[in-house]
Amino acid sequence: MIEMQDVTKKYPNKTTAVRGISVHIKQGEFVYVVGPSGSGKSTFIKLMYREEKATSGKKLEVVNHDLLKIKNKEVPYLRRDIGVVFQDFKLLPRKTVYENVAYAMQVIGRKPREIKKRVMEVLDLVGLKHKVRVFPSELSGGEQQRVSIARAIVNTPKVLIADEPTGNLDPDTSWEIMKLLERINNQGTTIVMATHNKTIVDTMRHRLIAIENGLIVRDEAEGEYEFDD
Ligand code: ADP
Ligand code: ADP
Repeated sequence: MIEMQDVTKKYPNKTTAVRGISVHIKQGEFVYVVGPSGSGKSTFIKLMYREEKATSGKKLEVVNHDLLKIKNKEVPYLRRDIGVVFQDFKLLPRKTVYENVAYAMQVIGRKPREIKKRVMEVLDLVGLKHKVRVFPSELSGGEQQRVSIARAIVNTPKVLIADEPTGNLDPDTSWEIMKLLERINNQGTTIVMATHNKTIVDTMRHRLIAIENGLIVRDEAEGEYEFDD
């Protein structure tokens, strides 16, 4: 599903954020990416959805897309196979809940009838069917994150990438989001999630990849958080 061999990312300012990382993530896995601030977690996952380009590498494949060779005009096709969820939700403020989710299907040319059916299906899955006409500013943080998850999965991606999805949420709301991600994972979607949340990582155990200074320092089947921050 995701394969990296000796992938390096050096930013134009000469910071090397990812140093020759190799990793293999299989279909259906749930993977936490942890590490101190500035260790390279975001860069590592941004390489997976081509938000950043690798500086060098022997292999960087995500859902059968070769990201070392992919052209800019092919990136939209990659993005159909990957859903992304952010700490700050990134919803469109002038669109309703329904429109935020439907938009992801409209841009890839799905038919209106198909869009309506699928949008209601995913809004039901995230428990927000009753909020279709509401704008993001009228929702709590947890609800906004659920809309962003609905948007991320509406095109049934093989992989869901989440960068600190609970970073702006209180503990109870964070657990609700985690239960939702777990449910999506149980339906077969691979999940890669960068997080600082020790309680979540240590309680809801999954594969854990720890990054320090641009290197993978641990990769454990049901690892503990183990950092102090
Ligand atoms: P983390 O997600 O673990 O906090 P990042 O991947 O954001 O780590 O950052 C890793 C390193 O790369 C840090 O030293 C950071 O300052 C640097 N960095 C991140 N993004 C950029 C960028 N766009 N330009 C230059 N340096 C960056
Ligand atoms: P939570 O319990 O997740 O923190 P809130 O207390 O923020 O949620 O919100 C509770 C309910 O009130 C939610 O259903 C939310 O949609 C609604 N709500 C919150 N803020 C607003 C607002 N500014 N305008 C309208 N409805 C709101």
